[in-house]
Amino acid sequence: MSLLSVDQARERILSHFQPVTTETLPLTGCSNRVLAQDMIAANDLPPFDNSSMDGFAVRAADVIDATAAAPRSLRVVADIPAGSHPTISLAPGEAARIMTGAPIPAGADAVVPVEDTNFDNRDAGTPAPNEVQIFKSVKSGRNTRPRGMDLRAGDVVMHKGRTLKPQDLGLLAMLGFANVLVYRKPRVALFSSGDELLEVDAPLEEGKIRDSNSYTLAALIEDAGAEVIRLGVAKDNHDAVKALLEEAAELSVDLILSSAGVSVGAFDFVKQVIESNGKMDFWRVNMRPGKPLAFGEYKDIPFIGLPGNPVSAFVGFMVFVEPTILRLRGLFYVGNQTVRVRCEEQIDSDGRESYLRAQLHPDGENGGWVARLTGHQGSGNLHSLVQANALLIIPAGVKCVPAGQEINAWLI
Ligand code: AMP
Ligand code: MG
Repeated sequence: MSLLSVDQARERILSHFQPVTTETLPLTGCSNRVLAQDMIAANDLPPFDNSSMDGFAVRAADVIDATAAAPRSLRVVADIPAGSHPTISLAPGEAARIMTGAPIPAGADAVVPVEDTNFDNRDAGTPAPNEVQIFKSVKSGRNTRPRGMDLRAGDVVMHKGRTLKPQDLGLLAMLGFANVLVYRKPRVALFSSGDELLEVDAPLEEGKIRDSNSYTLAALIEDAGAEVIRLGVAKDNHDAVKALLEEAAELSVDLILSSAGVSVGAFDFVKQVIESNGKMDFWRVNMRPGKPLAFGEYKDIPFIGLPGNPVSAFVGFMVFVEPTILRLRGLFYVGNQTVRVRCEEQIDSDGRESYLRAQLHPDGENGGWVARLTGHQGSGNLHSLVQANALLIIPAGVKCVPAGQEINAWLI
């Protein structure tokens, strides 16, 4: 069994995955989904010239000399609320009262805000005056939002492969897209394995621990944008493991994820069962924590086996499974977001690519962040992961990071 680098192992895994199929969803269900088509504007935005202020639509040339001392008086020939459709055309010497978002009438080319007039009254229901005094000149185009200033019909507003954010949904609504073609949510079947594992509500027994991985991993799966199907705990025997894998196959999930039973010497029923209906490789990855990793296929469904230790399972998910889910969702994995942080103390490493639990604090007057390792860094110590808000990444080959040095970290 050769030793793979983290990048090699991830590439090997990702090469087995393609985006899942697509579905058309109502816009309200599309937050955080990935677009499966380019979105092309069917109309200009804004769709018509409109006012960006409450005020008076004017011909700028009419008020070129207007000042507070020598106001220009205009005849008010129309009142244009938002949502109306003015049919008038302003002649020289004329104005129209206009509200924010209302269409600019023909003939007008600017809006004078109410505060630059003698009619600074925005109370609902106040009728428009017959005449208005303009106190200030205004440039042609001022306080108007011309049709198409934001985007034009035919523009590609969003590309396939984009994760839809709340503001994206707003823009798609402006453009009239009631339904959107997106990738469906990948479905991930999850199980834990081990005779020592108890359900969360069971009293502790001698030699047993509660299954924690399935809680951590289920939440990580959902946060990564997939649906989780919890299959529970498989006891360390052939029939128990087989029953769970059959259930996953029955459901045609996109990925089967398990924890534990991947280290050499473990009672390896997962391997036996998978190999009866597929294949399974055991890898050693040059990382810490989480060196052992299993990858295979059960009845053509990809299978990833993470290590059982709770911190190893978490880190293995971040490093290998999250990128896999992103690919299934239709995204291109470009690496996790990293921040640069300063190490408060010297950190010794063993030359493997290491993911160490740390707490980041504001770095005084230097700005940025300073990192302090949390608690015990053993791969079974989940509490120190809970106390951390970042994973520091010590590159492969590095055995010592001196105090004060900057390194990459992932926020968790
Ligand atoms: P294994 O990979 O089966 O040798 O397990 C490695 C370590 O992880 C052992 O201490 C297990 O008890 C522990 N472990 C395995 N599965 C879980 C789980 N689902 N929740 C918490 N700890 C686990
Ligand atoms: Mg075990």
